[in-house]
Amino acid sequence: IISKLPDVGTTIFTTMGQLAKAHNAIDLSQGFPNFEPDPELLALVAKAMRDGHNQYAPMGGLPVLREVIASKIKSLHQRTYDPEKEITITVGASQAIFTAITAFIGKGDEVIVFKPAYDCYEPAIAVNGGIPVGIQLNKADYKIDWNHFRSKITPKTKMIIINTPHNPSGTILAKEDMLELQKSLANTNIIVISDEVYEHIVFDGHEHESVSRFEDLAARSIICSSFGKTFHVTGWKVGYCVAPAALMHEFRKTHQFNVFCVDHPIQHALATYLQQPQHYLSLNGFYQGKRDYFLNALKGSQFTAIPAQGTYFQLLGFSNVSNEDDITFAKRLIVEHQLASIPISVFNMNGQDHKVLRFCFAKTHDTLERATEILQRI
Ligand code: PMP
Ligand code: GLN
Repeated sequence: IISKLPDVGTTIFTTMGQLAKAHNAIDLSQGFPNFEPDPELLALVAKAMRDGHNQYAPMGGLPVLREVIASKIKSLHQRTYDPEKEITITVGASQAIFTAITAFIGKGDEVIVFKPAYDCYEPAIAVNGGIPVGIQLNKADYKIDWNHFRSKITPKTKMIIINTPHNPSGTILAKEDMLELQKSLANTNIIVISDEVYEHIVFDGHEHESVSRFEDLAARSIICSSFGKTFHVTGWKVGYCVAPAALMHEFRKTHQFNVFCVDHPIQHALATYLQQPQHYLSLNGFYQGKRDYFLNALKGSQFTAIPAQGTYFQLLGFSNVSNEDDITFAKRLIVEHQLASIPISVFNMNGQDHKVLRFCFAKTHDTLERATEILQRI
């Protein structure tokens, strides 16, 4: 067999999750809540099934769900998208990202990716014959050096992938960053994929600066988001994709032959549930409480932290504790201390090791208490 992805192995999420199970460890590795979603949302899905919405949904997604998404974006970011032509419901953000890359990237096209990067971008670029061009985020604060970024743009650059709030670092792009990006792309045809799956998980009064807030960026951007993160249902794999009509037209050419459409009863439930803004606006405070608890409970420990500005991940530096590389240390943490995390060197960092692990704090109080007790003892 000639592999199209010879260097790709099993994802770190599967590896660490399996190891955590084998050692009966507390699992703060893969990003998912270990508590149940709102019973009201579950009841809406059951109702949609009983009401007979059990066959294929329309290809672009349920019209009423797309309309609610359009109103949400209008009220949060003051941009109008046409639900009919500019919003598509997808199988999670993963399928939106894969489809967007497949629709636009071909042999020899360069795609700029900021590293550490969420792990699904680069294989999708490579399998389509594209060339991922990595730009390292600053080691100290995971910010983007925009001059360095501009020096990496070539005539072959077809696409840039940004992710704010950022997995794994928990940083967010500020308004100034978005303006730098907008300025850097003026007079180019470069497409932006903006991975905004943590759009509703931002802390300390910061705002989520969606690309949709910036006219010239919005005109070239495909926004990908996920209900899995927002409504504590990562297993449902329902998300959405937003882009100007011309881009969305191309996106759907691929989408219709990739999945055609997405889970129908769940779209009905989400359409109703999303109509109440407090269901997503309450998320910032909810997760900030968990981040604060996690960080406070670690005070006095040997681990170092810059508080996450968004997402449900907190990075912890372990260089006061061990000289091991992050993968070795993360595995030992599972085997010897029954606590699972994610070593961030695996996020396409070309082997760079910052001696940092990522911990998911989308967990119950009891789980976070037990996890931080373990970290305090090390
Ligand atoms: N992008 C980022 C940054 C993520 O963290 C995730 C999943 N956790 C995804 C995309 C994929 O989202 P989904 O599960 O909806 O496919
Ligand atoms: N996005 C989740 C994380 O970062 C993982 C999803 C997956 O396993 N692909 O932990």
